[in-house]
Amino acid sequence: MTGRPEILFPLFADITALDGVGPKTAQNLEHIAITKPRDLLMTLPMGGVDRHRRGSIKEVVPPATLTVEVTIHDHIPPKQRGRPYRVNVSDDDTSFQLVFFHARGDYVQRQLPTGQKRIVSGKLELFDGIAQMVHPDYMVPTAQADEIPPYEPIYPLTAGVTQRLMWKATRDALSRAPDLAEWIDPSLKTKEGWPDWHAALEAAHTPAAATALAPHDPARARLAYDELFAHQVTLALARAQVRQKPGRASAGDGALRAKVLAALEFAPTGAQTRAVQEIAADLGTDLRMNRLLQGDVGSGKTFVALMALLTVVEAGGQGVMMAPTEILARQHLEGLRPLAEAAGVVLELLTGRDKGGERQAKLDALARGDIQILVGTHAVFQKDVAFADLRLAVIDEQHRFGVAQRMELGAKGQAVDVLVMTATPIPRSLSLAQYGDMDVSVLDEKPPGRTPVQTALVSTERMDEVIAKLQSAVAEGRQAYWVCPLVEESEVSDMTAAEERFKRLRAVFGEGQVGLVHGQMPPAEKDAAMAKFVAGQTNVLVATTVIEVGVNVPNASIMLIERAESFGLAQLHQLRGRVGRGAAASTCLLMYQAPLTENGRRRLEILRETEDGFRISEEDLAMRGAGDVIGTAQSGLPRFRIADLERQTALMQLAQSDARKLLHDDPALSTARGQAVRALLWLMEQDRAIRLLSVG
Ligand code: ADP
Ligand code: MG
Repeated sequence: MTGRPEILFPLFADITALDGVGPKTAQNLEHIAITKPRDLLMTLPMGGVDRHRRGSIKEVVPPATLTVEVTIHDHIPPKQRGRPYRVNVSDDDTSFQLVFFHARGDYVQRQLPTGQKRIVSGKLELFDGIAQMVHPDYMVPTAQADEIPPYEPIYPLTAGVTQRLMWKATRDALSRAPDLAEWIDPSLKTKEGWPDWHAALEAAHTPAAATALAPHDPARARLAYDELFAHQVTLALARAQVRQKPGRASAGDGALRAKVLAALEFAPTGAQTRAVQEIAADLGTDLRMNRLLQGDVGSGKTFVALMALLTVVEAGGQGVMMAPTEILARQHLEGLRPLAEAAGVVLELLTGRDKGGERQAKLDALARGDIQILVGTHAVFQKDVAFADLRLAVIDEQHRFGVAQRMELGAKGQAVDVLVMTATPIPRSLSLAQYGDMDVSVLDEKPPGRTPVQTALVSTERMDEVIAKLQSAVAEGRQAYWVCPLVEESEVSDMTAAEERFKRLRAVFGEGQVGLVHGQMPPAEKDAAMAKFVAGQTNVLVATTVIEVGVNVPNASIMLIERAESFGLAQLHQLRGRVGRGAAASTCLLMYQAPLTENGRRRLEILRETEDGFRISEEDLAMRGAGDVIGTAQSGLPRFRIADLERQTALMQLAQSDARKLLHDDPALSTARGQAVRALLWLMEQDRAIRLLSVG
């Protein structure tokens, strides 16, 4: 790709080229992310005002906006300062007043000469029983009636930018929009009844009625699709690029896996078996694997990861598994080592805490191939960590791992297959947007024998009661997590909150009964506290959200979360997933600071209603919007201007399959349609795709 196609230049020109947009307005528009004509075109109206012409104001019930032709009668200038200027007018049927505050009489006289006709449009109100229109939005001679749009689009605004200005500038931008060759699959376009790109823009900016603003309106749907399609082509390009790279076929003979299955205390679920097979199939080919394993907390992802790692070991290679925290890495080590030993496989831990000679010994063993599976934190990807024959990288619980970061990882490894595991069930549309470059395996079945978690809401005002209940539960031998809130985005204040709670609970439960973990603690202390809780020496573990992901203590059956209203639903669901792992009935107590907002209560009630992570995530998406659900900034999830992920899920799915098919049929985007898609990528500023194309 040599550069932006010339045909697009007008859309990327300076925004001040547009009618009515000067340097000051340009600055203001920047606040709503509009810096060039293209941005304006992609800012669609979010509402509209009906201004089609009526015979008389009697056709509406005030207050209402309407347009009528009037005959102008007498002018009534104000008798006192500060009083309004009034003009009596009549339509076909009745008379009313046009009202102006702080108006100069000569101006009103000129606009509305007595005896003449004008078309006026504005909001009609009743004041003291008299119908009046204060400062009409439009007053035009009958011959210029078409200056008033019958249905006027309403654009999002910012300070210093009016609807009129948006309208005018958008019309100018529309007139500069070129006709572009079609990039959408012709049969899809016909089937959906979508207009051409240019026609779609015209239509979307000139809605004829409120129905034209709905997401399924053909013009809007098409423009949304363009955006999603460009994104999915980018992901598909990234996927194709990864897959094209020479991989290593690691078939494995199943011997090690069979040993582990024999040593296992449980039978894998159907979903686990399916995922293991999907992964083994990928590993067995020389295409590079880039797969996501999605499964709710407790769905048993670790077992699947182990089977994947063993597959490459069987084939003579090595595998690495990275966890986001030290605690989790250690837990993986503890959980996996016995199984690895049963299979005669050497599994080691490497974290940031390994130092000096011991670390060096591990690195040497890795480089010789004596360690077959390495488990650890980010430390496993440090520069000086060299493997003899690394074939597979498993990245656990990385829901914050963006597309871009994954691509970097792929670029760094030699011929490494990648398996990313996420416990955050995200709605299908978001998953497609975020992980569209990956192949996905889903664990949609929970291991048997779990008892449902009882979830309850309680106000913090009842803290004493809660503590008393907790005392009797602990007396029965139960263990509890007590999660302190993220009041502020500062680890220090979280720590203070946690320490204070720790002191209070220790005073109640007694020395040695209560543990504490938070992000600011020295790692060794954190591990010690965790280990005591796992061993049942402490009964209550006060924690910040460091325990959020992955930690597994089957005997813990109570989860208390303070200020639950300040957490995201997905996070609460994750936290709750820490209990209900053993046979005992479990409880989750969501403590909130009263009063809860209506919305806040509804959110928490969803958790009471269901333990289905996917349902929770769908509800969360519907209530909060995509950006908030997975934190746009870190997630690598693009911000779409037109597409609505909540309501256009099906379009995203369509875009993904179409994009993959396109690249399968035309990998270099060299056909006529491929060329059109290139223009789309430029139009949608898919820089990453453009880079991939210029390299490949
Ligand atoms: P997650 O998907 O949250 O990472 P884990 O892999 O930690 O889940 O599994 C949670 C618990 O369930 C572990 O104690 C694990 O040994 C157990 N487990 C995994 N698969 C099964 C199964 N098929 N049947 C019973 N227990 C299982
Ligand atoms: Mg896990």
